[in-house]
Amino acid sequence: MSLIADTLLAYLPPKRKHTPSGWISFNAPCCIHNGTNADKRMRGGFIVNGGDAVSYHCFNCGFKSSWQPGRLVGPKLKNLMRWLSIPDDLINKMVFDAMRVKEDSELGSKLQLVPTFTPRALPLNSELIENCVVSKHLLPVLEYIGSRALYLEDYPFYWSNDLGFRNRLIIPFYHNKQIVGWTARSVNGQNPKYISEQQPGYVFNLDRQHWDRKYVIVCEGPFDAISIDGVALLGSEIKQGQHLLINQLQRQIILVPDRDEAGEKTVEQAIEFGWSVSFPPWPEGIKDVNDAVRILGRPATLWLIINSAVHTELKIKLQSKNWFRKEQ
Ligand SMILES: [Zn+2]
Repeated sequence: MSLIADTLLAYLPPKRKHTPSGWISFNAPCCIHNGTNADKRMRGGFIVNGGDAVSYHCFNCGFKSSWQPGRLVGPKLKNLMRWLSIPDDLINKMVFDAMRVKEDSELGSKLQLVPTFTPRALPLNSELIENCVVSKHLLPVLEYIGSRALYLEDYPFYWSNDLGFRNRLIIPFYHNKQIVGWTARSVNGQNPKYISEQQPGYVFNLDRQHWDRKYVIVCEGPFDAISIDGVALLGSEIKQGQHLLINQLQRQIILVPDRDEAGEKTVEQAIEFGWSVSFPPWPEGIKDVNDAVRILGRPATLWLIINSAVHTELKIKLQSKNWFRKEQ
């Protein structure tokens, strides 16, 4: 029970009646302080709700007061405490206790935990592509990397000759130099497009954010991120904890949304987190960063991203409307 509920219960007048619904009635101490005759018919009612919250009603003079965790002790409750002859030092104690409870509950709702990750094994027989023995099965995977305008040096890509993964490009997820997950992208149109092992809150490519960079560019997919050395949300939504990891980089954060409906929602989240958003004037047919790199090359893509970034909520909202409405 809360200190306030406990103390008030202890100081209620000794002559009390308990009702089945939980009210305690007694001669109200308030009336003479409110210009009414003293109560002699036990018209003061007190109840403890949910173990901590308290409520007082006087059915003689009409005085009311209540408290619940998360609220401060108001002047009316303080008066009631005095009228019940609770000593001043005890009243002060309750006032401070209510403050502490309020602060704790506010802190509790603000406090979000930065996600942590545990190591994960790659799919069976995965090997760094550079170390793979020559195999005709590897060729489509290499072609796929090329079709994304990427090179083997761009990322430690893996491959497994295991039947279930032979036609997939395996992208390990690193965090603090450990492999904590992976995704395996189909290279021949086979479904599902991605088979993934992903821990909640994971942000792709954080390890490769070099500290001399002024920006961190946030994209949706792993190929977008690898294309420009940005990070990826691995989805359109900014999920719980992801923004904390990205904010920890302590740099200007620029979101580059995919040009689709889901991307529009991501922009709203970015505004919430105080991030910048880039609306690059992509040529027709370009939907994401990797598309842009394939068609424009890396320098032009990066240049467009950085020069199309806007920073205030108003500007982001205005640009967002136009950018998403244009032909996609
Ligand atoms: Zn009263």
